Amino acid sequence: MGDVARAMPQDSVIVQESSPTAQPGDLALLIGRDRKSVLLRLEPGAELHTHHGTLSHDDLIETSWGSYVPTRMGRPMLLLRPSTDDIVRQLTRTTQIVYPKDAGYILMKMSIAPGCCVVEAGTGSGALTLVLAQAVGPTGHVHSYEIRPDVRNLARKNLAGLGLSDRATLKLRDISEGFDEHGADALFLDLPNPWDFVEQAHAALASGAFFGCILPTANQVIEMLGALGGSGFGVIEVEELFVRPYKATAARLRPMDRMVAHTGYLVFARTLA
Ligand code: SAH
Repeated sequence: MGDVARAMPQDSVIVQESSPTAQPGDLALLIGRDRKSVLLRLEPGAELHTHHGTLSHDDLIETSWGSYVPTRMGRPMLLLRPSTDDIVRQLTRTTQIVYPKDAGYILMKMSIAPGCCVVEAGTGSGALTLVLAQAVGPTGHVHSYEIRPDVRNLARKNLAGLGLSDRATLKLRDISEGFDEHGADALFLDLPNPWDFVEQAHAALASGAFFGCILPTANQVIEMLGALGGSGFGVIEVEELFVRPYKATAARLRPMDRMVAHTGYLVFARTLA
C-alpha cells in the first residue's frame, strides 16, 4: 500500500492523542509478523486486503492501540498509531525525499518549533514539508516552493491526507525569482544547485536566522561553501549522519547486514546582519 494520499482522504492531524482505542478517521499502522506494515485511515465498513489476509476496518475501530488483531486467515496484525517516521517512509513519492534521520536533526539544528515561520524549496513529495508542518504547530507556518506542478500536486495530496494543509502554503515557482517571505526564522533548500540561491535565501531570512541545505555529493558541498563564504552567512557547518540499525535480539545483538550508507551532506549556516 503506502499511498498516504489515497489511504487517508480525511482531514485529521497526524498527532492524535485523544482515545486509547482506534477511532473512525484515525490513521493506523498494521504490522504483520514479517514486520511489513500498512498505513490506513480507519473508515467504518471499509476492508483492508493484505498478503496476510483481509481485515475489516470495523474489527479495528474501538480496539486498543497496541493490540494484535487476526486477519480472516488467522494471521495476527499489530495495531499501532503510526509514528512520523512510519508516515515519511510510507509516503507516496516521485522525488528523492529527506529521510527521517536527516529531517529530525534538521529540526534540532534549525530550532524549528511551534510558531516558527519556515521557508523551504523544493517541495518535492512533501516529506520534509510534513515534518516541518508538524513541528511548527498550528501557530507556525511553512512556505514551500516547487518548480514542477505534478510534484507540487502530489505534495498537496500528501499533506491533505495528513490534515496538515492549513500549516503549509505550496507555491509553484522557480526560486531564482526570489521568495515572498522576509524575516523568516529558518529556510531549507533541497534542490540540486542551492548555491545559485543564497542571495534569495538571505533576503527571505531574519538576521541571525537559520539556513540549511542537503546535498548528495561532496562536489556540491564545495560549491555551496564557496557561495556561502561570500554572501552574508556565518557559523557554517557541514555534517553527515549515519544510522546503523541493529537486529534487536537479546541473544545475538548485532548490526543489520545492510544499512543506508548515504543520503546527503547537511550544510547549516546563520544569516549575518
Ligand atoms: N525535500 C523534498 C524533496 C525535494 S526534491 C522531500 O522531502 O520530499 C527536489 C525538488 O526541487 C524537485 O521536486 C524539483 O522539481 C525542485 N526544484 C529544483 N529546482 C528548483 C527551483 N529552482 N525552484 C523550485 N523548485 C526546484
